[in-house]
Amino acid sequence: MFDSFSDGYCPQCLLDDKKIPLVVNQMDFWECPSCRLQCISDGVSVLSIIRERGDGQLKDILATDWIKRFTLSRTKRNDITKSDGSTFRNEEELWGYLENEVEG
Ligand SMILES: [Zn+2]
Repeated sequence: MFDSFSDGYCPQCLLDDKKIPLVVNQMDFWECPSCRLQCISDGVSVLSIIRERGDGQLKDILATDWIKRFTLSRTKRNDITKSDGSTFRNEEELWGYLENEVEG
């Protein structure tokens, strides 16, 4: 199920209809306990998908308690902590980013 907004669930796993809350990791990024996708929030309205996977060092804080209707975005190539300002208009764009820009 594609959604251009996030309520704190892993956007990659949602495409497989799995609702898995992101969890804070030791880098203070949001990380999926299943596929290790990492995201970073601006704390206000944007959740950006990081191009590198995490390593599973997770804390006990769920994104579903903090993220409500945040806009999904990509991160910059030269700064994984910053949104590049783009959004995903459809499932194909999100899959393209996950498959071509994010490490496997
Ligand atoms: Zn995931």
